[in-house]
Amino acid sequence: MGNILIVAEQKAGALRSASLNAISFARKLRETRGAGDLIGLVIGQNVSGAASELAGYGLTKVISVDHASLGGYMAETYAPVVAQVAKAQGADLVCGTSTSMGKDLLPRVAALLGAGMASEVSGVLGPKSFRRPMLAGNVVAKVEVTTAMAVVSVRQTEWAPAAASGSSCAVETADAGAVSTLGAQVVKLEAVTSARPDLTDAKVVVSGGRGMKAAENFKHLEAIADLLGGAVGATRAACDAGLVPNDLQVGQTGKVVAPNLYVAVAISGAIQHLAGMKGSKVIVAINKDPEAPIFQVADYGLVAKWEDVLPELTEKLKAVKASQ
Ligand SMILES: Cc1cc2nc3c(=O)[nH]c(=O)nc-3n(C[C@H](O)[C@H](O)[C@H](O)COP(=O)(O)OP(=O)(O)OC[C@H]3O[C@@H](n4cnc5c(N)ncnc54)[C@H](O)[C@@H]3O)c2cc1C
Repeated sequence: MGNILIVAEQKAGALRSASLNAISFARKLRETRGAGDLIGLVIGQNVSGAASELAGYGLTKVISVDHASLGGYMAETYAPVVAQVAKAQGADLVCGTSTSMGKDLLPRVAALLGAGMASEVSGVLGPKSFRRPMLAGNVVAKVEVTTAMAVVSVRQTEWAPAAASGSSCAVETADAGAVSTLGAQVVKLEAVTSARPDLTDAKVVVSGGRGMKAAENFKHLEAIADLLGGAVGATRAACDAGLVPNDLQVGQTGKVVAPNLYVAVAISGAIQHLAGMKGSKVIVAINKDPEAPIFQVADYGLVAKWEDVLPELTEKLKAVKASQ
């Protein structure tokens, strides 16, 4: 049995917390296999900080690939590095988290390695056999990878972030090799800056649907999200209608979230939306239609127009906060 290579992500030289979910998967897989090293990989420019941080999560070792031409993430430049390190380190499984980067990078790595791939893995059933949700979460499939090399992307919400081990493993550097961009280049990175937490990391998500009717009405949801220290999400219909930007979309083709509290306002509860949020611990729904399917998954439901109840809810939350 070979080693397990965990592709970690970094942002501006700091380890991204989403990588910790892939470490939990790798630990579970190692336990199931009973053999193999856990090797972390960090790629980018000036990533020594991220590499030493990663070394604190109970891995056998960390490989750092630091190169000026790897400063801006591109699957074209990163995938050959991952494939090369996987081979050099005797890995027979490469894994990472199903973030935007993971979804972009890992299939390309699988192609370069001639590896079978299991995506959005939610459970380990054997050395190369996994559980994963399909059809908007309505079917749980058992997937077996039969190639010698396997690539796995891990569904973030199904794996708790790994805890730090309290000690540090060795960090080795590896050569990036000849980095070819295959004619692609990063022209400009337009990062969304927000004081609110990232949707996929937030403990509270307050989402709005098409029933919010206008962009300015989302300020009611923002006020509640801010009082609860949460993030704002939306349905695809709300994004498509231009009420909010697309990066707020929660669902099958949007982000998958599993916060402690999910508040769904003016959202019908279409299956493709539920696929992205039904793992939330407590779901609160506000909808004027008592027949709306969202009430079937809600722990608490309020049949009401948001116009009538959101201002009152905001005032009550403010009062609770003030009394704390
Ligand atoms: C392949 C595919 C992928 C998709 N991926 C996604 C995805 O990732 N995420 C996603 O969300 N959708 C996705 N969809 C779209 C999905 O099928 C639904 O169309 C969408 O989720 C509906 O959004 P909505 O609930 O905001 O709108 P609607 O279905 O129009 O519902 C609006 C709701 O608001 C309520 N309402 C209206 N006015 C008020 C008011 N004043 N107060 C309170 N309630 C009110 C209504 O009763 C209604 O229930 C996908 C569809 C397809 C085919």
